[in-house]
Amino acid sequence: MDFSENTGLLIKALRFSADKHRYQRRKDQAQSPYINHPIEVAQLLWDVGGVREINVLLAALLHDTIEDTQTRPDEIRSLFGDEVLSLVLEVTDDKSLPKSERKRLQIENAPHKSIGAKLIKLADKCCNVRDLTGSPPKDWSMERRREYLLWTEQVINGLRGTNMELEAYYERELASGKLLLGIH
Ligand code: NDP
Ligand code: ZN
Repeated sequence: MDFSENTGLLIKALRFSADKHRYQRRKDQAQSPYINHPIEVAQLLWDVGGVREINVLLAALLHDTIEDTQTRPDEIRSLFGDEVLSLVLEVTDDKSLPKSERKRLQIENAPHKSIGAKLIKLADKCCNVRDLTGSPPKDWSMERRREYLLWTEQVINGLRGTNMELEAYYERELASGKLLLGIH
């Protein structure tokens, strides 16, 4: 695929994701537009991870659409193809399960994901840990933030060996989070 074709696809994914998330906000004090998050995940993959695989970047922009909006799998398939859909589905939690089960499954399933899905999950957790430190959910106690941080560490353990730069970035974010939240 050439440069202009890839650029066109990235713009299409940005537009699609922005539209799907248009009524959502992140949980931070400022209630930032939700779309900022998938954009940050894609940028981290590009800037820090050095990821150049177009389908991974597209799936990063779309990674929360099925989980958090009314997006149907066939919409993603028809606009972006089977491989992008498959990546998005790999990083989508089954919302019909109780939260504790979803959290447990993320830890259990992380090592068995494809490389592309592991990259997206790594970048997603990096962004969420960074958010938890710099712009945390507004009503979360310190204890809840600590629990979340320690849970991401368990998920990340199953993703190691995928991308050294992203893993090093995660370690730095985790270390500053632990310092801030008083985890020794
Ligand atoms: P949630 O999964 O409900 O919330 C975290 C998710 O919210 C992130 O993974 C991220 O997902 C999204 N998100 C949106 N905005 C932000 C933001 N500003 N910063 C970080 N993440 C954001 O977390 P849980 O309710 O599962 O809580 C985490 C831990 O806390 C669990 O271990 C749970 O057991 C525990 N807990 C503690 C409670 C307490 O009061 N002590 C109560 C409930 C749970 P995405 O990128 O997909 O949008
Ligand atoms: Zn996410």
